[in-house]
Amino acid sequence: MRAYYRALHRAWGRQHWWPARTRFEVIVGAYLTQNTSWANVEIALRRLRQARLLTLSGIRNTPLSELEGLIRSSGYFRQKAARLRTFVAFVDDRYGGSLTRMFSQPTEKLRHELLELNGIGPETADSILLYSGQHPVFVVDAYTRRILERHEITSPNAPYEEIRFLFERSLATLQSPTIVAQQNRVGEQSQLAHRPSAMSLAKRSSVAQIYNDMHGLIVRVGKHYCLKSRVICEKCPLQSFLPVPLDRRVKRISGKA
Ligand code: SF4
Repeated sequence: MRAYYRALHRAWGRQHWWPARTRFEVIVGAYLTQNTSWANVEIALRRLRQARLLTLSGIRNTPLSELEGLIRSSGYFRQKAARLRTFVAFVDDRYGGSLTRMFSQPTEKLRHELLELNGIGPETADSILLYSGQHPVFVVDAYTRRILERHEITSPNAPYEEIRFLFERSLATLQSPTIVAQQNRVGEQSQLAHRPSAMSLAKRSSVAQIYNDMHGLIVRVGKHYCLKSRVICEKCPLQSFLPVPLDRRVKRISGKA
């Protein structure tokens, strides 16, 4: 995983995840992105922002039907509106309505609490912890699984936690001055997934930064090279890590062999 990180970072640099202005915007985005594309989420976030409701109090005080209408583009809007309300009630009840107090909890404790909430699975919990709270937790998504399976590193049914620990064990020690210097380099604008934002530039530990970067880089591989039904290995920075020669591999993935 360290070699993968180096190869991807060398190719594309920092990806500037998560594109958001505030911690709460990241959280709302993490809920809304479930089962839909980011483009649909952006529409919902823009509407909430324009209505000045992209805040804890906005979600808390807006009639549910109005909230549902504003986030309609993200799909499953009734369910998602109710879940956002559940999250705000959780912050209110347990942390007096303060995200700062919530995020000051130990990582494992807060992760456990988030996973207890309706509508929060491991990927959403870890996205909130890493991208909103700057906790050092690696986010495992469908792109991550796909790449690892195609490289024969994990099996299709590998548990979420197994994959998370694999990345965390490998990357937590990757803090050489070279890597940190590379991370801080500006000037790879054409390779960015997102423009720098208040949240992508938020202060975080070097471990959290590496997890942040690695997940963003994996998303880029999954979106542009390692697609669900097609692979473009010859242009992918991870090509040299393929476990079998490229021609045989392509045939196997595309089902031609
Ligand atoms: S596109 Fe090919 S080289 Fe890149 S991650 Fe997928 S299988 Fe590996």
